Parts: sequence; C-alpha cells; structure tokens
Amino acid sequence: MRVVRCVVGAIAMASMALAAEPPKVVAVKAGRLIDVKAGAVVANSVVLIQDGRVKAVGPSVSIPADATVIDLSGYTVLPGLIDCHTHLVADASDADPLSELKSSSAKRAFESVPNARVTLEAGFTTVRDVGSYRAFVDVALRDAIAKGDFPGPRMYVAGPYLTITGGGGTMSGGLAPDIVLPWDLKFGVADGVDQVRQRVRDIAQNGVDLIKVLATGAFLTHGSDPKAVEYSYDELRAAVEEAAHKGLKVAAHAHSTEGIKSAVRAGVASIEHGTYVDDEGLRLMKEKGTYLVADIYDAEWIRESAGYPADFAAKQPEGDEIQRQNFKKAAQMGVKIAYGTDAGVYPHGFNARQFAWQVKYGQTPMEAIRSATISAADLIGRGQPASSASATSGIRSCGRPKSAAAPSASGFSVIESSCAATTAASTRSRIDVRIAAPR
Ligand SMILES: [Zn+2]
Repeated sequence: MRVVRCVVGAIAMASMALAAEPPKVVAVKAGRLIDVKAGAVVANSVVLIQDGRVKAVGPSVSIPADATVIDLSGYTVLPGLIDCHTHLVADASDADPLSELKSSSAKRAFESVPNARVTLEAGFTTVRDVGSYRAFVDVALRDAIAKGDFPGPRMYVAGPYLTITGGGGTMSGGLAPDIVLPWDLKFGVADGVDQVRQRVRDIAQNGVDLIKVLATGAFLTHGSDPKAVEYSYDELRAAVEEAAHKGLKVAAHAHSTEGIKSAVRAGVASIEHGTYVDDEGLRLMKEKGTYLVADIYDAEWIRESAGYPADFAAKQPEGDEIQRQNFKKAAQMGVKIAYGTDAGVYPHGFNARQFAWQVKYGQTPMEAIRSATISAADLIGRGQPASSASATSGIRSCGRPKSAAAPSASGFSVIESSCAATTAASTRSRIDVRIAAPR
C-alpha cells in the first residue's frame, strides 16, 4: 500500500501563516502539485498568491523578491478538499435522534465549534452541510466562521431538511402523541405539494445555500424504512421548482430504488446515499447530470460503534455492500460523483478516510481526488447565485472571492483560498491520503 503524504490547501495556509498581517505576496513551493483540472501531478511547482487570490501556478512561475515563501518541496500539495455531505451540528458519539430532546440549540451550536475546527484541520476547507435537527444552527455556524470568530471550513448549508410527517430524519421513535416538539425540531416537516412549496420558501428566506429533501426513508431514524418512498414525484418537483425560484439547488437523500428515480426525474442536483439505485436509475442520473454523493465509508463505523441504537445497526445490514457495489457501477458508467461522507454520523475529522473506499470501489486515485475538489465545486457552485446575502457579506469582510466555487483556470478551485482570512494562524492541514485501496 502506497501512502502519500499530502499537504492540503497550501493556498489557504499561505495566508494563515501570518494571519494578523497577511502578506501581500505568498509563494508556495510544492515538491509535487496535483493539478486536479488536468488530472496530472506536476513536479517542482510554485503557487503564487497575491492578496489571498491565486495568481499563477506552475513549474516556471518565478518568485518575486518580496514574497513570503512557504517551502513544501518535500510534500505533495493539492487544493483544499471539499466534503459535500457533512453534519457539523451533530455529535457522532450520541447518535440517537431522541437525544436532541435533551439539548438546547445553544448547546448544539457550541458543540459544533470544535467539529468545524477538526474538519478544517483534516484538510477539508469547504463543506456542503446537509441539515441539522435544530433548525438554522448551521446557518449561524456558517456565518460565525465566515466572520472569523473561530476556525472552520467555508460552509454551504441546507438548514432544516424537508421530510414527511414521521419520515426520515424526524423526531420519531415512541414519543407519546401528546408530546409537542419545539418549532425548530419540526421546521422541515411538510406534506403535500402546497406545504412543500411553502416550507421551501420559509427555509430559503432564512439564508440557506441549498435545499435538502428526504425523498425516502432513512437508516438512522427510528421506525423509518430506507426502501420506502416518502415524497412523491409531484412533491419533489414542487421542491425543485420552488428552490430554483430562489436560485437554490436541491439535494435529495434517497435510498430506495423508486425514490431515487423520482428525485432524479424531478430535477434534483444530487442523490445523497443512493443505496438501492438500479441500472435505470444510474442511466437517468448520467443522462441528467445528477451527482451521486455516496457515503460508502461510514458503515465501518456505524456497525461497530457503541453509540448507535440497536435498531439502526440491525437495519438492512446488506445495504452497506449494495451501496458500495452500486457506487462501483456508477463510477464505471461515468455517473458524476462528488465526495460526501456523512461526517457527524461518524466522528468529524475522519473525512479523508473515504478516499480509500472510493478507490477500492472503482475509482482511480485521481478520480477520487477530483470528486473532492473539482467535481464537488461543480456540484456546489453550478447554477448557484453569488451566495445568500449573509454569506456574501461574510465573504466580503474576509476579502474572499465572491464567486461561489468555480475552479480557476489554474485547476485550483478558488475555494481553497477561502479559509485564508478566517483561519487561525498556526493551522497547517497535513493528512495522509491512502492512495491504494484498503485490503
Ligand atoms: Zn446525512
């Protein structure tokens, strides 16, 4: 097994080194540089950053006399990584949804601060965070990081996800019928086309960056069947249409075969999980350019962790391998794949572990890296408006690029410079990326 030491997000680190007074020009000397756009590894390259923006990349770039030089010539350098499926406002050590009833939203918010830090330190400079039980804690977390209050990745957040009454992600599991949940633990519950439209509007006006729907049942909800369709095509289509009116894309949690196809036909941007997708579903995804975001590592944790309710771990255990084989099929068919781990379901900061599984199940190492860089940026950014109002102000105040996630001509996503202004001075994200598949 070959293990390559990589330095992630050198561009982000460049400005971090002197956060108090950011240097105007920074040159990063990379022993080997992964150009994700070209899909190539370039020896002895220089990344030149001016005022927090990448100005030039390549072996022939000359270093100005006044530049601050960061010498990483003993390392392989790649752009900051992007995880398209996280839950930073979630604690993997207590995975029972009913535990939410013992925590205030303030408690959850404070607990998410170290989650954000360890994610950044693991080399993930951007996350697409797809929902929290307590509505809009993720929006507040995103904005606090963008302001520079504490270190964390740039976040694109979904707010409370839409789900049917008693559906995946709800506070189900033996609550007495006369228990009334607080508003923020049921904000995303919506049934029928009209309620779905209304709820998308309610969520959109609170500053989210995308809409998340639970099209099917879930593994990690009491009494929910992942093979069950929950939202109809009409409801999903209403969500997609209404989100589009607000300039937002829709991510669909979908395990069941039919639920996946309904969501794809309704025009969602991504299928999250995709466990029981069939060949027709994969063909549809390829045809429509729908991304697959499949958390194919986390089952390793869920099956062995003591923190999970017994009914979760016992639920359709064959689903783990079915999901992985379908991931392999998707990779072979050329379905678009973006990296997403469901961090929060397993401990934050382990985000890079899934690379090995993606290689084991059909991708080349470069394809796996591209899924967490250029492809992830495309999923987040394409069709995205400049950003939600609050995020835009945060970006401006940090001197960050305004465009959402468009890769630059150099092959470096502009995202990786995003943490430069907001991250603590000492952070250097060094991770070991396992290039070979696990045995
Ligand atoms: Zn999730």
